[in-house]
Amino acid sequence: MRRTVVLTILLAYGSVVLFGQNVTLYNTNIVDVEGGKVVPGMTVHVKNGMIARIVKAKKRIKKGQTDYTGTYLMPGLIDSHTHWGNNTMKASYMREMAESYLADGVTTVRDAGGDARNVKLYKVKQDSGVIVGPDVYFSSLWAGPSYYGGRERLDTRGHVTENAPWSQKIKDTTSFEQLERMILEAKEFGCTGLKLYNNISFDMLKKIVPLCREHGLKAWGHFAIFPAVAREVVEAGCETVSHVYLIDGMEGFTRSFKTKRFSPAEVEHRASIFREMARQGTILDATVLICMNDYRKEFVPRYVSEAYRLGVKIATGTDWVRLENGRINSVFMDELYLLTDSCGMSIPDVLRAATIVGAEVLGQVDKLGVIREGAEADLIVLKSNPLESLQALRQQLALYMNGKKVK
Ligand SMILES: [Zn+2]
Repeated sequence: MRRTVVLTILLAYGSVVLFGQNVTLYNTNIVDVEGGKVVPGMTVHVKNGMIARIVKAKKRIKKGQTDYTGTYLMPGLIDSHTHWGNNTMKASYMREMAESYLADGVTTVRDAGGDARNVKLYKVKQDSGVIVGPDVYFSSLWAGPSYYGGRERLDTRGHVTENAPWSQKIKDTTSFEQLERMILEAKEFGCTGLKLYNNISFDMLKKIVPLCREHGLKAWGHFAIFPAVAREVVEAGCETVSHVYLIDGMEGFTRSFKTKRFSPAEVEHRASIFREMARQGTILDATVLICMNDYRKEFVPRYVSEAYRLGVKIATGTDWVRLENGRINSVFMDELYLLTDSCGMSIPDVLRAATIVGAEVLGQVDKLGVIREGAEADLIVLKSNPLESLQALRQQLALYMNGKKVK
């Protein structure tokens, strides 16, 4: 009996124990992202991949400690919107994506829908050390009949098209029992949230979101899930909503829409939704960069700054990678710069978006995005203070994942 218990624990935590390391980082300046300040001269003890103890640095360094005098220690960054399970993902892309994300200091990402079998394949490669890259939290994508449209879909190829644990067709007639079974299937498959995509009604959302909560999954929605509009998605209780531009629907951007969108009535309409989000604590995964190549650049930064000024929590999601000279590149840093330079967010708030808010998106508050006892030791060692300039994130001296130095 006891042996079974020990074995089960080993199987469950084996990879963490094997991967998690012990290390002591001596005399660094901790970037307290939450407080927006630096805590100088601290030594961080990491045990089994977790931050075990943070103490004032002693006068003299001990044997076996790594000297980080004069450096700044920042929690690993989080991209709240990626598509790791993209079905066009070649093996080489997967590796390049992992490398380029780590180069940007991103140690955790959320996968917002796709072929979750690819994500699981990535995790196997990551666990066995074939690939070194960020941890991925992934979702089951749910949409209405118009999304599936009776065709074979790439993200469920080789499986029943409309009913995979990671991709489910929802009809207005789908029963409560069916919804609950699908949630349990998603959970068993390893999904930690549902990506509520489109063609789902407000009535259906009002059933799905509480069920998600009951079973410990996150409700991740598009900002509008037509027919459910932005206000309804927020009212239904989705915890994170993606793509600020969807607040208006999918209308094209013409001169007359521009006049309408910035009229006092429209600004107030948006403000009322943003105020409700601030009240409920709904997180906006704004995805700015991906909108900057077309007509949406005319209004997306403005919408984000409206949301920001009304106190909406904003997360950093890219929803994109750049393909340059046949290589995949992370665009995470570009998203951060847009949030400060075009959307008017302060540097501390952008760092919060990329850490503690991202952790909240994933349901990992106090575990990710912070340097605190009991948190995972995903840490970036920087040459200068990122609270003063985002450029500091470019000058990494080292990167730790679960206490293991990976760079
Ligand atoms: Zn997306």
